Amino acid sequence: MKNDGLLVVISGPAGAGKGTVVKELVKDENIEVSVSATTRSPRAGEEDGVHYHFLTQEKFKEMIEQNGFLEYAQYCGNYYGSPKKQAQQWMSEGKDVILEIEVQGCQKIKEQNPDCVSIFIMPPSMEVLEQRLRGRGTETEEVILRRMERAKEEIELSKNYDYVIVNGPLEECVADVMAAIKKEKQKRVY
Ligand code: 5GP
Repeated sequence: MKNDGLLVVISGPAGAGKGTVVKELVKDENIEVSVSATTRSPRAGEEDGVHYHFLTQEKFKEMIEQNGFLEYAQYCGNYYGSPKKQAQQWMSEGKDVILEIEVQGCQKIKEQNPDCVSIFIMPPSMEVLEQRLRGRGTETEEVILRRMERAKEEIELSKNYDYVIVNGPLEECVADVMAAIKKEKQKRVY
């Protein structure tokens, strides 16, 4: 009997509302979310060790050399990576682990962990995406435009995901993601 938890990759353009969806998912006691490391600066209200492990470039590179990441990627000029140790520990305890990561990271995870499930959270429209990005009020115009461009590229790649779920009404989206996780667990041979 194999009781390892499922590795669940969740991607979607910045502003698609992934964070809100993930917050709802982790209310389930069998689901944990991996805290990524990044070299980007904290936004207002973000705490080290909670939202991200905020690292210097030097420290991040050290972790790469020590093989400390399940995957890592560069996104809009910064490094982001999923620490290996905690995720593996949770999975060995039978917990499902969510990696909220961008598309290049998802590709790497799929190559190394073919048993994972990948879910793309799609914004209802580009207009809603832009409104959400601007609504944060934390980013400069340049960053917003760069993230909108990147969003278009990411949406193109949504076809590589096992599930594409539109984030319209929150409860519906969360229920759809939970249903996808449940279905995938039923497919695995235990
Ligand atoms: P943000 O700067 O808005 O928090 O994140 C930017 C992008 O990086 C998002 O698409 C987010 O999902 C992704 N991201 C966050 N953590 C990781 C990670 O550990 N690895 C990868 N590949 N992407 C990540």
